Amino acid sequence: MLLEHLRAKLSAIEAQSLTRFLRQAESPTAPRQQVRGADGVTRELLMFCSNDYLGLAAEPQITAALIEGAMIYGGGSGASPLISGHSRAHEQVAETLSAWMAPHIPEAKALGFCTGYMANLAVVTALGDEQTEIFSEAWNHASLIDGSRLARAQVTRYAHADVAQLRGLLAASQAKVKLIVTDAVFSMDGDLAPLPELLALADDFDAWLIVDDAHGFGVLGERGRGSLEHFKLRSERLILVGTLGKAAGLAGAFVVAHATITDYLLQAARNYIFSTASPPAIEHALLTSLALIESDLGAERRANLRRLQAQLRVGIAAMLARHPALGWRLAPSDTPVQPLIIGGNAEVMALAARLEREGLRVPGIRPPTVPAGEARLRITLCATHVEADVDRLLLALAAAAADMDVSTP
Ligand code: PMP
Repeated sequence: MLLEHLRAKLSAIEAQSLTRFLRQAESPTAPRQQVRGADGVTRELLMFCSNDYLGLAAEPQITAALIEGAMIYGGGSGASPLISGHSRAHEQVAETLSAWMAPHIPEAKALGFCTGYMANLAVVTALGDEQTEIFSEAWNHASLIDGSRLARAQVTRYAHADVAQLRGLLAASQAKVKLIVTDAVFSMDGDLAPLPELLALADDFDAWLIVDDAHGFGVLGERGRGSLEHFKLRSERLILVGTLGKAAGLAGAFVVAHATITDYLLQAARNYIFSTASPPAIEHALLTSLALIESDLGAERRANLRRLQAQLRVGIAAMLARHPALGWRLAPSDTPVQPLIIGGNAEVMALAARLEREGLRVPGIRPPTVPAGEARLRITLCATHVEADVDRLLLALAAAAADMDVSTP
């Protein structure tokens, strides 16, 4: 019965062109990667899909630090943090991140997690008790949505970037504790949340602002400290979640907030307390990664990313101007995440497959990850791409657009 039930669901997924499948990487994460496809054939692809924005995943200094960390600490952490899994390296990473965020959050204190998904679940479920109302931005990441579902709090959704609507909802709320929850960089769109306005609302209505900076950390701000540095924010009302598997090139995540908040998470966040701590070698290597993010190398890579972002946007805009009949749309991104909205599921998957045949991996993103009718190519840039890589993508997109545009003679 279960198997029939699931087969029917799988068929329904396939009928909507929504089936997902795994590929297999056979070399380090980098602009050029050896990838084994569903057909079992390994090809070199020019990748426009990873979140390794600074190109640190394959950085030799980080690989060396991982090996050094394994020599010091061995393999796994062996236990959850409060039992015996918390190493000196875990503590050093937390101290570094607390110091990084001290200009932005008074009495800043960090707590580490194995993944961003876990960090988001922890914050939202531990803080979202029965006396709390959560105000959740409509485009939030799945982990924040799942955290809100698990929390005991009342959950109210507000429309994307709709500060006026949120003001009305906060004004009407009777809850003892109010939590505004938002991505800083929207992961499927690349635009920024209006964090200064949201923080002003938090001040006006005695609310707290949980910011998921998964895609801003390492990328935004002069020293790569992320959205809080980018917007020059400072408040004890800020509760920051950052991830370390994207721009930091490794794995893990952190929460930085006023010490009372992180002290409480240590006592109450069930998925922190009851889950094995990350391998200490990763934490040891994260120290090198954090040093690189704020070094001249990090600054140069951020500058290169901004140049590539501009090149990509200008190129796509010119292509779209030649093919208005296609109805494709360039999303207004401020980051290395640049969506090209195509529309239909089958159409976007055909386009992604064509690009892949030409040696370019640009993933198609479909509902439910994005709204129906807004299936898109999600192009992500990495600081180790070069101008010629972006040119190659632009040429391939222009050729596809010319072929698909029935209005072209
Ligand atoms: N938040 C956002 C906005 C994300 O895009 C992601 C990862 N896709 C996460 C959280 C989860 O982070 P992690 O991959 O470390 O679990």
